[in-house]
Amino acid sequence: MSRPTFLAIILAISISLIGCSDNPEPGSPNNGTITAKTEDLTIRSDVIHSAVSKVNTKTIVEADPSNWLSTGRTYDEQRHSPLDQINDKNISELGLAWSWETNTKRGLEATPIVVDGTMFTSGTWSVVWAHDARTGELLWEFDPEVPRSWGRYACCDVVNRGVAAWEGKIYVGTIDGRLIALNAGDGSVAWSANTVPADRPYTITGAPRVVDGKVIIGNGGAEYGVRGFITAYDASNGDQLWRFYTVPGNPDDGFESKAMEEAATTWRGGKWWEVGGGGTVWDSMAYDPDLNLLYIGVGNGAPWNRYIRSPGGGDNLFLSSIVAINPDSGEKVWHYQTTPGDTWDYTAVQHMILADIEIQGENRKVIMQAPKNGFFYVLDRRTGEFLSAEAYVPITWATHVDSETGRPVEDPQAHYANDKKRVKPGPLGGHNWHPMTFHPGTGLVYIPALDLAFDFAQDNAFKHSKEDWNTGIDFRTTAPPTDPNQLIKNLQDIKGFVTAWDPKTQKEIWRVQHATAWNGGLLSTSGNLLFQGRADGYFAAYSADNGQLLWETPTHVGIMAAPISYSIDGEQYISVVAGWGGAYGLASGAPRHKGNVLSKGRILTYKLGGDLTLPDPEVTYLAIPSPPKMDYSLAQVSEGQDLFHQYCAVCHGPGSGTSGPVANLFYAEQAVHDIWDAIVVGGAYTQKGMPNFKHALDSEKSQAIRAYVIEAAKGTIAFCESDYRKQYPELLDTACEIPVIGGE
Ligand code: CA
Repeated sequence: MSRPTFLAIILAISISLIGCSDNPEPGSPNNGTITAKTEDLTIRSDVIHSAVSKVNTKTIVEADPSNWLSTGRTYDEQRHSPLDQINDKNISELGLAWSWETNTKRGLEATPIVVDGTMFTSGTWSVVWAHDARTGELLWEFDPEVPRSWGRYACCDVVNRGVAAWEGKIYVGTIDGRLIALNAGDGSVAWSANTVPADRPYTITGAPRVVDGKVIIGNGGAEYGVRGFITAYDASNGDQLWRFYTVPGNPDDGFESKAMEEAATTWRGGKWWEVGGGGTVWDSMAYDPDLNLLYIGVGNGAPWNRYIRSPGGGDNLFLSSIVAINPDSGEKVWHYQTTPGDTWDYTAVQHMILADIEIQGENRKVIMQAPKNGFFYVLDRRTGEFLSAEAYVPITWATHVDSETGRPVEDPQAHYANDKKRVKPGPLGGHNWHPMTFHPGTGLVYIPALDLAFDFAQDNAFKHSKEDWNTGIDFRTTAPPTDPNQLIKNLQDIKGFVTAWDPKTQKEIWRVQHATAWNGGLLSTSGNLLFQGRADGYFAAYSADNGQLLWETPTHVGIMAAPISYSIDGEQYISVVAGWGGAYGLASGAPRHKGNVLSKGRILTYKLGGDLTLPDPEVTYLAIPSPPKMDYSLAQVSEGQDLFHQYCAVCHGPGSGTSGPVANLFYAEQAVHDIWDAIVVGGAYTQKGMPNFKHALDSEKSQAIRAYVIEAAKGTIAFCESDYRKQYPELLDTACEIPVIGGE
């Protein structure tokens, strides 16, 4: 392939990143575009509308297994399908029924909704699709036309985790902060509400939930500096009904609720409201209709660093907490904080599951969560009473959770105010947003777990900036080690697995160890099956009772999203959205295990006797080209390395050579080097997805970064030509070459 063609590919990839205006505004008045994709939609839209009209409290609670009416299937969010036509005896007959290309190369994280044979899914840039769930035919597509420039505020990729259905409408939260109600029949906009203040970098990635006619939506943005809240809107017309803030604002301005007055006593000495405080509710919710309690998971602090955020100490409520709310009024009923005074990005937004289980001879109504901090929690969901917590992954920040107080006992080895400390779990958590599942038959909770460490160090020069991450952490520590053996060890230490966890005894029953980290969410079924898409580009089924691998099929792209199951005319289907990216995938590249590449995203649907096969991608591998000549000093390289890891690494990857969806700078053409400052400082590539950094970098600093990138490319080429490459191909291929797929 000629160099210009290759450059075009790199630019094409980065074009999809961000794009239009230099001064983005959230909640753009643009109503988006609806495209009818099937000629007979006018006939079918009445049928679809009529089916979705029946989605309400009663049908979600009844949970007909042929449908998947809510993101967690049921309000208790167990993500278990009672269907058993596909089971551990006939799983070898499972094959592809249909596949549909999303035409995107950014992250796909959504759990689809299925209502009487129609599938509603969301994708990159908050686009919504309706498909015939039997054939995969696209019925309509809605594009909210999010300004691409807003993508710079999406810490963890421009993803969306799914839609909600209620009484004839489909609801989606957009990356620029809107909540949009679509008429289910044809995807036309019923109403649109801006849910976030314009002067802060909020984003929405989570799926809305609908409770008793109220659409509940949170948001993200704590890395950039925002104040967390969730809001309830009238499902029929978009009127705001209530808003619950998760952290206090400036106490001098008064308090919105009694809960905020209570919370403010636990924040001490800092001006957290200037950065925002954090506590965003960006993913998980659950609802108990009998208790009439809505459970929300609350995120990390902004900044992460508590020594800066609240230097006088304190628990900083309601960061890293599970909060139970009365959905009628939006008032807090109880809370439980998993990480008091969080300082490691330990969100408690992770998937929460409600179940009734017997503990010490007593039937308990519990809520269960495996938050980022690495402990698996079982609480009484009526009162928030702490029942138990044990580590489900290796943990170094705390020794244990005290069984009397329910509070973690911190290990001072994780306190980084004065020295750099390596801590487990890292900011990606022992478990991130990837959904778990609870199988009522085995009584086990299955967790897609991560085992990753991170070097925390205080950023002593921290200053709030609206354009950058505001963590109070010195990201220069993320630069890869120069010792190759240490680098290999760090790569080997990136681990992911599924743990089958007994919530009664708080013990692991079995584990499936995966090749690498950031594997997909889970689905269990009454066919004794556990389904998971993996980071290595395979979709797999395991035995739910013992973890044995029963079936797997290549998907040619890593999978993060959770599968679902549904049936049409008595035939069971398993469906999953495949597409790599997210917080880890964006910067780390596509794992190359088992020949995995980075194909376009797809919705993949399987059934017994399905006989389609995915075409094998035609792949060409490109090694890193020799970098252009530049005169620079070692001091410049060193300065450039620091600046790169401060400003660039969260997207381009530590070490600057990502092979993920963001441009790999090692492959930058001479033409790019020629206008380097115009891109980095001047914003010449804003429309191609690269924001300008004029608020932080001048020409001298920009050139120091260029010197570092060139020096790092030279070092990586030498490393890739060494014997290490032959010894550890699966670890190093992703850093040493880029797979380019023909026809894409
Ligand atoms: Ca976070």
